[in-house]
Amino acid sequence: MLLEGKKILVTGGSRGIGKEIVMKCLQEGASVHYCDFEVSPFQAEMDAAAIDGAEAVFHNANITDEEQVKGLIKDITADGKLDVVVNNAGITRDGMVFRMPLDQWESVLKVNLTGAFLVAREASSFMALRQKSGSIINMASIVGQTGNAGQTNYSASKAGLIGFTKSLAKETAKRNVRVNAVAPGFIATAMTDKLSEEVRAEYAASIPLGRLGDAQDIANAVVYLASDLSSYVTGQVLRVDGGMVM
Ligand code: NAP
Repeated sequence: MLLEGKKILVTGGSRGIGKEIVMKCLQEGASVHYCDFEVSPFQAEMDAAAIDGAEAVFHNANITDEEQVKGLIKDITADGKLDVVVNNAGITRDGMVFRMPLDQWESVLKVNLTGAFLVAREASSFMALRQKSGSIINMASIVGQTGNAGQTNYSASKAGLIGFTKSLAKETAKRNVRVNAVAPGFIATAMTDKLSEEVRAEYAASIPLGRLGDAQDIANAVVYLASDLSSYVTGQVLRVDGGMVM
């Protein structure tokens, strides 16, 4: 098992890609904490996936609330251990820029960028200053590198997250904390279910591997970056997109 003995936090772990990351990490022997607004409807499935004594522990925490994030990391690190953080929680509020109200812009930046910053700040200070090891994985998106019409707010947040990843990687490398990003392409989840059948078919046709990705494809990449297999990898953006961007 690739993650035996590791303790992992996944934000937004109740459903979608986050839920698959929780499941995959449990199957690889990790003990997993996840935060979201509600306990996962898949909690029983998570419990069944956990290996010998590992568990999936739910925390009700909003990653945009500074005090809640401080409390979350304090609780999880009370026993002096936190090996991996996956900054997965994210939202879309799509629309053309000339019709975009300020709150539509700010809400996406607040969750996808500021929320990830708050979690990474608290976790990296524990990892770098106390534990002197760790891996932080930020969930970006290929649109943070390519742009996408109708997603100026979302792609700006993900481009910002990529810059944040590289800068934090440079700040923490000497203290043995690695920071990387995963950039999914189009993945079949509730987020992409909002797209029409026609748009989904168009995307699938434009992907060299000929299909939308699934959440397990992303979870597999996260396991690699969380595990010691990637111990010489930091500051990178791992695109998992079926070859959409080369
Ligand atoms: P999802 O199905 O909408 O799941 C996101 C989860 O994050 C939800 O459980 C959501 O809770 C939670 N969340 C949202 N805001 C939060 C907050 N402030 N605090 C705590 N939890 C919060 O999305 P997904 O498709 O799995 O996407 C996961 C990540 O991958 C996101 O960062 C997304 O940008 C990225 N991504 C996805 C795709 C794709 O094709 N799906 C592509 C590229 C990148 P509620 O549902 O209760 O709000």
